[in-house]
Amino acid sequence: MALSIVESCVNCWACVDLCPSEAIYATSTHFKIAPNKCTECEGDYANPQCASICPIEEAILDSLGRAMNPAGSLTGISPEKLEAAMQEIQAR
Ligand code: SF4
Ligand code: SF4
Repeated sequence: MALSIVESCVNCWACVDLCPSEAIYATSTHFKIAPNKCTECEGDYANPQCASICPIEEAILDSLGRAMNPAGSLTGISPEKLEAAMQEIQAR
């Protein structure tokens, strides 16, 4: 079981030093998680530390590919509300 970091990661470095397993590493594109090292923080913390600190929605996925911080969870703006606002702006 391991989390993964995807393309929307902005390379902010916030998660890197929090990982108790040193599983997060830099690549030429964005940070990634070594699946053979990630423990999902079990035994060290109650919550995955990388997902707890990450400021970008949908940048970290669980072992089933679901966003740890889904759209709207950090901004408080639901995808539906965002879409409606974008349509209103484009209609101006
Ligand atoms: S879930 Fe925990 S062990 Fe896995 S990469 Fe994130 S901080 Fe490291
Ligand atoms: S905290 Fe999130 S955005 Fe920042 S480096 Fe880690 S995965 Fe990327």
